[in-house]
Amino acid sequence: MNDTLRATFRGALLRPGEEGYDQARRVWNGAIDRRPALIARCAGADDVVTAVRYAREHDLLVSVRGGGHAVAGHAVCDDGLMIDLSLLKQVTVDPRARTATATAGLLWSEFDKATQPHGLATTGGIISHTGIGGLTLGGGLGHLMRKHGLTVDNLLAADVVTADGERLHVDAESEPDLFWGLRGGGGNFGVVTSFTYRLHPVGPMVLAGPIVWPFEQAADVLSALRDFAAEAPDELGISVAARMAPPMPILPSDQYGKPVLIVIPVWAGDMAAGQRAVEPLRTLGTPLAEAVRPMPYLAVQSMLDLGAPHGMHYYWKSHRLPKLADAVIEVIVAGVASQTSPFSQIAGWAMGGAACRVDPDATAVGAREGGFELNVTASWPAPAGPAERHRAWVREHWETMRPHSAGVYANFLSDESAEETQAAYGTRLARLTAVKDRYDPTNFFRLNANIPPSGGAR
Ligand SMILES: Cc1cc2nc3c(=O)[nH]c(=O)nc-3n(C[C@H](O)[C@H](O)[C@H](O)COP(=O)(O)OP(=O)(O)OC[C@H]3O[C@@H](n4cnc5c(N)ncnc54)[C@H](O)[C@@H]3O)c2cc1C
Repeated sequence: MNDTLRATFRGALLRPGEEGYDQARRVWNGAIDRRPALIARCAGADDVVTAVRYAREHDLLVSVRGGGHAVAGHAVCDDGLMIDLSLLKQVTVDPRARTATATAGLLWSEFDKATQPHGLATTGGIISHTGIGGLTLGGGLGHLMRKHGLTVDNLLAADVVTADGERLHVDAESEPDLFWGLRGGGGNFGVVTSFTYRLHPVGPMVLAGPIVWPFEQAADVLSALRDFAAEAPDELGISVAARMAPPMPILPSDQYGKPVLIVIPVWAGDMAAGQRAVEPLRTLGTPLAEAVRPMPYLAVQSMLDLGAPHGMHYYWKSHRLPKLADAVIEVIVAGVASQTSPFSQIAGWAMGGAACRVDPDATAVGAREGGFELNVTASWPAPAGPAERHRAWVREHWETMRPHSAGVYANFLSDESAEETQAAYGTRLARLTAVKDRYDPTNFFRLNANIPPSGGAR
């Protein structure tokens, strides 16, 4: 590291062995164990410029860390420079204009805590410790998406440091191609230092909570849910998980560890109308337990955190399943019966509503079809034997669903391949490649769901 870098960089520069280095290189997925040659913990956008220029001058591999949640672990690299944005934690809310500008190190819990005092929110992740950065750039699915669209549909502007170390303000007028690419194309085009979002009146109370069925009813409930979700009002977010029962206080303790189906409706609107909208779900089959209640939106946003702790080992693969065919339901049921770890699950969302009414070409996000977005997720504690059997379980069930798939969500990719990139971006890949050619022709930003420039990957 040269003296000029030390002299100009305002944040912390960490090398192997220095205090804080091991903590800073750690990401959410405990299976990722990489050692950058240098970690640049940026204190502002100027530091991001300095770090990008330094990496370019020294031909260093670069990774970009927001919340550190990407299951593939792209936030951290071996031997290169990790540009760590996690100290950038400012958010300004304009309640009159209903907008928020947030710097790239914020987590969704921090963002929501800033907007909710104004009774406002935008679509964000369903685990509160996910970063706003990666989630936004990949698309952004969440409880509010059927009513308010994906996170990218609410992105109004971004400040970006390009691969040349230039700063750009990007919105629909000033850099329309880059703005299009940022809304779904991930970290391929530059480092976003701040995001401006449209906000909506939400909460502070919403109607939400789990409904839990014994697994014998899973196939019938899923097939009824498919029909229910297709007609459900936009205000009703619907997520679903097939898994071993966690120790939820609403369940009798003899159910813990047994397979169950959990549906979580989240109604952001008039409470009485919400109760009416949720009622058909309560009467599907015979639930073991349900706790759909008025609760603060902030509580909903952290309700599932315990199911996704930092440091466990993870491997995920997803599909957009427009029809949730009976054959897919059979795979879900067989998958949970054969899962290799009690922490694994097949989980996701009913799509639809505003998120699926956006013109598929309006943003770079892949599939806009309705139906279900399902993620086959393996989670296991580090010492639980060879990882390969957990990964094989994911691949097997993901492969069996593949004939029914309309694409994969770029933010849930665990593996790197041209085939997966094609599945994530579909017909938008050619335009994304053109944006890459213009803004990052040398593939400087390549640790991501990579869109290689037409000159080729490196
Ligand atoms: C437990 C869990 C729950 C999740 N829930 C949801 C959910 O509800 N909805 C949903 O849509 N997705 C969800 N995801 C997926 C999530 O969107 C991705 O993992 C996303 O990458 C997380 O963003 P991050 O900033 O925390 O990740 P990081 O690992 O820090 O970043 C991932 C990649 O994004 C890029 N990146 C991040 N920030 C920037 C930036 N500022 N500028 C340029 N590039 C950047 C980089 O390429 C980086 O390698 C979830 C993931 C996990 C692990």
